[in-house]
Amino acid sequence: MRQRKERRISRAFYIGRFQPYHLGHHTVLTSIADQVDEIIIGIGSAQRSHEPENPFTAGERVIMVSRSLKSLDIDYYVIPIEDIQRNAVWVSHVVSMTPHFDVVYTNNPLVFRLFEEAEIRVEHSPMYQREIYSGTAIREKMLSGEAWEHLVPEDVACAIDEIKGVERIREIARDE
Ligand code: ATP
Ligand code: MG
Repeated sequence: MRQRKERRISRAFYIGRFQPYHLGHHTVLTSIADQVDEIIIGIGSAQRSHEPENPFTAGERVIMVSRSLKSLDIDYYVIPIEDIQRNAVWVSHVVSMTPHFDVVYTNNPLVFRLFEEAEIRVEHSPMYQREIYSGTAIREKMLSGEAWEHLVPEDVACAIDEIKGVERIREIARDE
Protein backbone atom coordinates (compact mmCIF):
# COMPACT_ATOMS: atom_id res chain seq x y z
CA MET A 1 0.00 0.00 0.00
CA ARG A 2 1.24 3.46 -0.84
CA GLN A 3 2.00 5.58 2.16
CA ARG A 4 0.85 9.18 2.18
CA LYS A 5 3.68 11.64 2.53
CA GLU A 6 3.27 13.47 5.82
CA ARG A 7 5.99 16.10 5.63
CA ARG A 8 4.64 19.26 7.30
CA ILE A 9 4.79 22.41 5.24
CA SER A 10 6.27 25.38 7.10
CA ARG A 11 4.53 28.68 6.50
CA ALA A 12 5.41 32.25 7.39
CA PHE A 13 3.07 35.25 7.68
CA TYR A 14 4.09 38.80 6.71
CA ILE A 15 1.75 41.81 6.77
CA GLY A 16 1.93 45.35 5.42
CA ARG A 17 -0.28 47.96 3.77
CA PHE A 18 1.93 47.92 0.66
CA GLN A 19 0.95 51.41 -0.53
CA PRO A 20 2.87 50.56 -2.68
CA TYR A 21 4.80 47.27 -2.37
CA HIS A 22 8.48 48.30 -2.62
CA LEU A 23 12.00 46.86 -2.68
CA GLY A 24 12.31 47.03 1.13
CA HIS A 25 9.35 44.64 1.46
CA HIS A 26 10.68 42.56 -1.44
CA THR A 27 14.12 42.16 0.15
CA VAL A 28 12.51 40.92 3.38
CA LEU A 29 10.31 38.42 1.52
CA THR A 30 13.27 37.21 -0.56
CA SER A 31 15.12 36.28 2.61
CA ILE A 32 12.02 34.73 4.27
CA ALA A 33 11.59 32.59 1.14
CA ASP A 34 14.88 30.85 2.00
CA GLN A 35 13.59 29.85 5.42
CA VAL A 36 10.10 28.40 4.90
CA ASP A 37 8.14 26.39 2.30
CA GLU A 38 5.29 28.89 1.82
CA ILE A 39 4.58 32.53 2.62
CA ILE A 40 1.27 34.19 3.42
CA ILE A 41 1.26 37.90 2.66
CA GLY A 42 -1.48 39.87 4.41
CA ILE A 43 -2.61 43.06 2.68
CA GLY A 44 -3.39 45.22 5.70
CA SER A 45 -6.01 48.01 5.86
CA ALA A 46 -7.58 46.21 2.91
CA GLN A 47 -10.74 48.33 3.02
CA ARG A 48 -8.80 51.56 2.46
CA SER A 49 -8.12 53.13 -0.94
CA HIS A 50 -8.30 56.47 -2.75
CA GLU A 51 -6.76 58.31 0.23
CA PRO A 52 -3.40 60.13 0.27
CA GLU A 53 -1.82 57.53 2.57
CA ASN A 54 -3.74 54.60 1.09
CA PRO A 55 -4.15 55.27 -2.62
CA PHE A 56 -4.42 51.70 -3.93
CA THR A 57 -7.23 49.18 -3.52
CA ALA A 58 -6.72 45.74 -1.97
CA GLY A 59 -7.11 44.20 -5.43
CA GLU A 60 -4.47 46.49 -6.93
CA ARG A 61 -2.09 45.61 -4.10
CA VAL A 62 -2.79 41.89 -4.58
CA ILE A 63 -1.62 42.31 -8.19
CA MET A 64 1.53 44.24 -7.14
CA VAL A 65 2.56 41.61 -4.58
CA SER A 66 1.61 38.48 -6.48
CA ARG A 67 3.28 39.49 -9.74
CA SER A 68 6.47 40.47 -7.89
CA LEU A 69 6.65 37.19 -5.98
CA LYS A 70 6.43 35.06 -9.13
CA SER A 71 10.17 35.55 -9.60
CA LEU A 72 10.91 34.00 -6.18
CA ASP A 73 11.05 30.23 -5.88
CA ILE A 74 8.29 29.97 -3.27
CA ASP A 75 4.57 29.18 -3.01
CA TYR A 76 2.52 32.02 -1.59
CA TYR A 77 -0.95 33.28 -0.76
CA VAL A 78 -1.87 36.96 -0.89
CA ILE A 79 -4.80 37.72 1.40
CA PRO A 80 -6.52 41.09 1.97
CA ILE A 81 -7.17 41.75 5.65
CA GLU A 82 -9.49 44.56 6.73
CA ASP A 83 -8.84 46.56 9.88
CA ILE A 84 -10.83 45.79 12.98
CA GLN A 85 -10.63 48.51 15.60
CA ARG A 86 -9.88 46.06 18.39
CA ASN A 87 -6.27 45.02 18.95
CA ALA A 88 -7.19 42.39 21.55
CA VAL A 89 -8.88 40.20 18.94
CA TRP A 90 -6.80 41.16 15.90
CA VAL A 91 -4.68 37.98 15.89
CA SER A 92 -7.85 35.83 15.85
CA HIS A 93 -9.13 37.94 12.97
CA VAL A 94 -5.91 37.32 11.01
CA VAL A 95 -5.91 33.60 11.83
CA SER A 96 -9.52 33.32 10.65
CA MET A 97 -8.57 34.75 7.23
CA THR A 98 -5.37 32.81 6.51
CA PRO A 99 -4.05 29.27 6.10
CA HIS A 100 -2.25 27.98 9.20
CA PHE A 101 1.18 29.59 9.73
CA ASP A 102 4.10 28.69 12.01
CA VAL A 103 5.98 31.97 12.24
CA VAL A 104 5.37 35.69 11.76
CA TYR A 105 8.04 38.10 10.51
CA THR A 106 7.55 41.76 11.40
CA ASN A 107 9.30 44.88 12.63
CA ASN A 108 6.07 46.51 13.77
CA PRO A 109 6.16 46.54 17.61
CA LEU A 110 2.37 46.22 18.01
CA VAL A 111 2.14 43.32 15.55
CA PHE A 112 5.08 41.68 17.36
CA ARG A 113 3.44 42.08 20.76
CA LEU A 114 0.00 40.83 19.67
CA PHE A 115 1.38 37.62 18.11
CA GLU A 116 3.73 37.05 21.02
CA GLU A 117 0.85 37.35 23.48
CA ALA A 118 -1.11 34.86 21.37
CA GLU A 119 1.87 32.48 21.74
CA ILE A 120 2.61 32.41 18.03
CA ARG A 121 6.30 32.46 17.06
CA VAL A 122 7.41 35.95 15.91
CA GLU A 123 10.75 36.97 14.40
CA HIS A 124 12.07 40.48 13.85
CA SER A 125 12.51 41.34 10.18
CA PRO A 126 15.33 43.78 9.41
CA MET A 127 14.91 47.19 7.72
CA TYR A 128 16.61 47.75 4.36
CA GLN A 129 17.64 51.30 3.56
CA ARG A 130 14.53 52.72 5.15
CA GLU A 131 15.41 56.28 4.05
CA ILE A 132 14.77 55.32 0.42
CA TYR A 133 12.58 52.23 0.60
CA SER A 134 9.50 53.65 2.30
CA GLY A 135 5.91 53.84 1.10
CA THR A 136 5.59 57.43 2.34
CA ALA A 137 8.77 58.53 0.53
CA ILE A 138 7.63 56.83 -2.70
CA ARG A 139 4.18 58.46 -2.59
CA GLU A 140 5.84 61.84 -2.04
CA LYS A 141 8.03 61.30 -5.10
CA MET A 142 4.97 60.37 -7.17
CA LEU A 143 3.32 63.60 -6.06
CA SER A 144 6.29 65.82 -6.77
CA GLY A 145 7.17 64.24 -10.11
CA GLU A 146 10.49 62.73 -9.02
CA ALA A 147 11.61 59.30 -10.23
CA TRP A 148 10.18 56.48 -8.06
CA GLU A 149 10.14 53.47 -10.41
CA HIS A 150 13.59 52.25 -9.30
CA LEU A 151 12.34 51.89 -5.71
CA VAL A 152 9.76 49.19 -6.52
CA PRO A 153 9.94 45.85 -8.36
CA GLU A 154 9.46 46.29 -12.12
CA ASP A 155 6.08 44.50 -11.98
CA VAL A 156 4.86 47.05 -9.43
CA ALA A 157 5.89 50.00 -11.61
CA CYS A 158 3.98 48.40 -14.53
CA ALA A 159 0.90 47.69 -12.38
CA ILE A 160 0.85 51.32 -11.16
CA ASP A 161 1.17 52.59 -14.73
CA GLU A 162 -1.69 50.33 -15.87
CA ILE A 163 -4.08 51.87 -13.34
CA LYS A 164 -2.72 55.43 -13.80
CA GLY A 165 -1.74 55.36 -10.15
CA VAL A 166 0.38 58.51 -10.18
CA GLU A 167 -2.47 60.54 -11.67
CA ARG A 168 -4.77 59.16 -8.99
CA ILE A 169 -2.39 60.17 -6.19
CA ARG A 170 -2.12 63.70 -7.58
CA GLU A 171 -5.89 64.06 -8.00
CA ILE A 172 -6.55 62.80 -4.49
CA ALA A 173 -4.02 65.28 -3.10
CA ARG A 174 -5.66 68.09 -5.06
CA ASP A 175 -9.14 67.13 -3.80
CA GLU A 176 -8.04 67.13 -0.16
P1 ATP B 1 4.23 53.71 4.75
O1 ATP B 1 5.31 54.74 4.73
O2 ATP B 1 3.09 53.98 3.85
O3 ATP B 1 3.80 53.32 6.14
P2 ATP B 1 6.02 51.44 4.63
O4 ATP B 1 7.22 51.57 3.76
O5 ATP B 1 6.21 51.60 6.11
O6 ATP B 1 4.89 52.40 4.07
P3 ATP B 1 4.15 49.34 5.13
O7 ATP B 1 3.27 48.69 4.12
O8 ATP B 1 3.58 50.26 6.12
O9 ATP B 1 5.36 50.05 4.32
O10 ATP B 1 5.01 48.26 5.88
C1 ATP B 1 4.85 46.89 5.93
C2 ATP B 1 5.98 46.34 6.75
O11 ATP B 1 7.18 46.49 6.00
C3 ATP B 1 6.18 47.11 8.06
O12 ATP B 1 6.39 46.22 9.11
C4 ATP B 1 7.38 47.95 7.75
O13 ATP B 1 8.15 48.25 8.90
C5 ATP B 1 8.17 47.07 6.78
N1 ATP B 1 9.08 47.86 5.96
C6 ATP B 1 8.86 49.08 5.46
N2 ATP B 1 9.95 49.55 4.80
C7 ATP B 1 10.89 48.59 4.90
C8 ATP B 1 12.25 48.48 4.46
N3 ATP B 1 12.85 49.47 3.79
N4 ATP B 1 12.92 47.35 4.75
C9 ATP B 1 12.31 46.36 5.44
N5 ATP B 1 11.06 46.39 5.89
C10 ATP B 1 10.33 47.50 5.64
MG1 MG C 1 4.55 51.80 7.50
